Amino acid sequence: MTRITRVARLLSDALLVTGSTNVRYLTGLSSSNAALLVEPDGAATLYTDFRYAERARAIVGIEVVEIARDLIGSIGSLLSGRRIAVEAPHVSYDTYRRLSTAGIDLVPLGSQVGDIADGPVEDLRRVKEPGEIEAIRRAGAISDQVFAGLAEERFTGRTETELGWWIEQAFHDAGASSVAFSSIVAAGTNGASPHAVPGDRPIEAGTLVTVDIGCVVDGYCSDCTRTFATGELPTQLAEAYAVCLQAQLDGLAAARAGAHGRDVDAASRVAVEAAGLGERYGHGLGHGVGLDVHEAPVLRPESFDVLVSGNVVSIEPGIYLPGSGGVRIEDLVVVREEGAERLTMFGKELTLVG
Ligand code: ZN
Ligand code: ZN
Repeated sequence: MTRITRVARLLSDALLVTGSTNVRYLTGLSSSNAALLVEPDGAATLYTDFRYAERARAIVGIEVVEIARDLIGSIGSLLSGRRIAVEAPHVSYDTYRRLSTAGIDLVPLGSQVGDIADGPVEDLRRVKEPGEIEAIRRAGAISDQVFAGLAEERFTGRTETELGWWIEQAFHDAGASSVAFSSIVAAGTNGASPHAVPGDRPIEAGTLVTVDIGCVVDGYCSDCTRTFATGELPTQLAEAYAVCLQAQLDGLAAARAGAHGRDVDAASRVAVEAAGLGERYGHGLGHGVGLDVHEAPVLRPESFDVLVSGNVVSIEPGIYLPGSGGVRIEDLVVVREEGAERLTMFGKELTLVG
């Protein structure tokens, strides 16, 4: 059964897919100006302009309608008078207003919480096919290779920005098609901010350096974090590392098909709370990864998700100590009936760098 047939089975109205990642997932076409109409009977029409029309026509089983640059204006006149479901997280207010004014009866589906969109197509994307898992596994293996190289590099005296560029080059050399997101290299007190922006201050000796990186292979992302030590650590940071590692192992052990996202998250908080650091672990345990680096399902206290076999999620507790530093340890795993299978294998014992 094709992906389009599977999404059609979820529909009672025709669905206009406008999220570009969702269009790519269903058709294979990467385009900045395309929308796919999926009818409940499985028929599909792809609207796109001249720039993408030739590649669109090569897709089997889809009717292609070449429109002018104004995608939404054209769809508005072509579908006027119909009742059409739209992907709420991927329709701007302007698009909604224009389609509505054109006489389409719009039914919004899905929602977005934080940076995670969820709708009918995202529902399918939660469960990865074997080929998707293999692409993510390759992206994970490349990040392992980059971490192995990075562990041989000198950190002290170089800047976070400099190491960020080193990482980007290493991904390129190892065969990734791009980075999945801007690499995070956060040293010393900067490490106390989970999504720190790399800066130009030389990295000091005797501190922690959090490195959160990912790359893209065949359109699929990897996401992995390791935290390195630039020499002997103050007791507080050494303890934070040990507690974070325990939390990460506990989260990994709890992730399996049938587990609730909030319970897996809770399992990772036990060691952190016992150490009196609960307040310093201020984000969720993890998120789905696939064509997007942040997607459903989520592992966090407010999650309603239940893990199923074939989900790919990150397991990434962190401890952030303002004024001192921080640690985060993140693996990417595929959820199986019997537990979580790691897709990122670089070692997690505290690694000393120069
Ligand atoms: Zn990450
Ligand atoms: Zn992540």
